[in-house]
Amino acid sequence: MKKLLIVAAIIAGLGLSGGRTWAQEKPDAAEAAMVHTVDASTASDVALLEKIVDINSGTMNLDGVVKVKDILEPQVAALGFKTEWHPMEQLDGRAGDLVAEHPCALGKGKCGKRILLIGHMDTVFEPTSAFQKYEIVPGTNGRVATGPGVSDMKDGLVIMLSALRAMKAASVLDKSEITIVLSGDEERHGTPVSISRKDMVDAAKHSDLALEFENASRDAGLDGQDAVRIGRRSASTWRLETTGRTGHSSGVFGDAMGYGAVYELVRILDQFRSELPEPGLTYNVGLVLGGATAEENANKTGGDATGKTNVIPSTALALGDLRTLNDEQTDRVKKKMEAIVRDHLAKTSARIEFEDGYPAMAVTPGSQALLAELQKVNATLGYPPEVVTDPIFAGAGDIASVAPYVPGLVGVGAMGAGAHAEVETVYLDSLPRQAKRMAILMYREGKE
Ligand SMILES: [Zn+2]
Repeated sequence: MKKLLIVAAIIAGLGLSGGRTWAQEKPDAAEAAMVHTVDASTASDVALLEKIVDINSGTMNLDGVVKVKDILEPQVAALGFKTEWHPMEQLDGRAGDLVAEHPCALGKGKCGKRILLIGHMDTVFEPTSAFQKYEIVPGTNGRVATGPGVSDMKDGLVIMLSALRAMKAASVLDKSEITIVLSGDEERHGTPVSISRKDMVDAAKHSDLALEFENASRDAGLDGQDAVRIGRRSASTWRLETTGRTGHSSGVFGDAMGYGAVYELVRILDQFRSELPEPGLTYNVGLVLGGATAEENANKTGGDATGKTNVIPSTALALGDLRTLNDEQTDRVKKKMEAIVRDHLAKTSARIEFEDGYPAMAVTPGSQALLAELQKVNATLGYPPEVVTDPIFAGAGDIASVAPYVPGLVGVGAMGAGAHAEVETVYLDSLPRQAKRMAILMYREGKE
């Protein structure tokens, strides 16, 4: 810890921000007031976290998501936001979005940068999960809590509110133009995306930057260094299907029968493995079926195949994913995959279909500039600079939907570990740290 503080002091002293010194090393009066408010509210913030973690809000438990919304909405409204609930049950079988707008008291566009705050109220833990309650992890001196969504991302909802309350108490919220969009289906988004992400995209179009309150991590765990991300990889899926002539196995490789569907499938997958690798790209094959018949089930989690050792298989299929750093990489890799697919073995055929999932959030100069501002906030607070996590370790998320319109920070919620597993934890000391960072960052962006 001592070493980190020394590093922070050196960096602050050198003013490593493109040749200029840090805009401000000491908090001004408003910033000091915000720090004080966050510290004073930490106990009630943690109590709110416990309360909303104990409400099951698995994505498909629409009533549970609405219950979480019903707790948050009045608290957001009390801060001067105009709130609206946009139900989506009829549209895409999901709960809906909470949208809240805080107008600039001086008039539209006169409060510096217009800020978009995004997050989600759902978790991956449905009512059928055994993981339902908030608890302090024994042996951690009360520093670590566990529970469904305690890290991904009910902590982020609490931090968002805490930061806004601190801004209100310091009389700077009125000078801010902020939109909040909380989805009810981040973990299993409704389709089409044009409906399920419409509220976020619409809000992004009248915003200048986005802060996504998803969980973050610490390098080396509880006593490690706080990390942040400015990029997320895309996540999409593909389905490869091959066909071949069928007949007695003794004729395989021959002019008349060719190679059959399974060899064609394997050729393609092996060329994917050997020819496609490049930095930032991964593509996994998750399921393979082949034989005389092959069909995946409706959920694409298994399927049925039949075949015999002495019959050349007529059909085969593979399901996989594709994760990229940016749209350019996605398009380029898709074209390479299609070219490999077209290069058929004798008497076989194949086709590949891609299904869009989450787009990538590429690292841009805009998000790098925002990161530099965040590091200045860290210097003001006496925190070491945050570690910037490689986007390759950042899964897909909602901020990617708004990334084409605004720069943003990914994961400004609390630090924790084990998201999506029944051991999900949060480091409670990171709640006030993040709330202070975000309150000061929003205040400074609103002055620009
Ligand atoms: Zn999440």
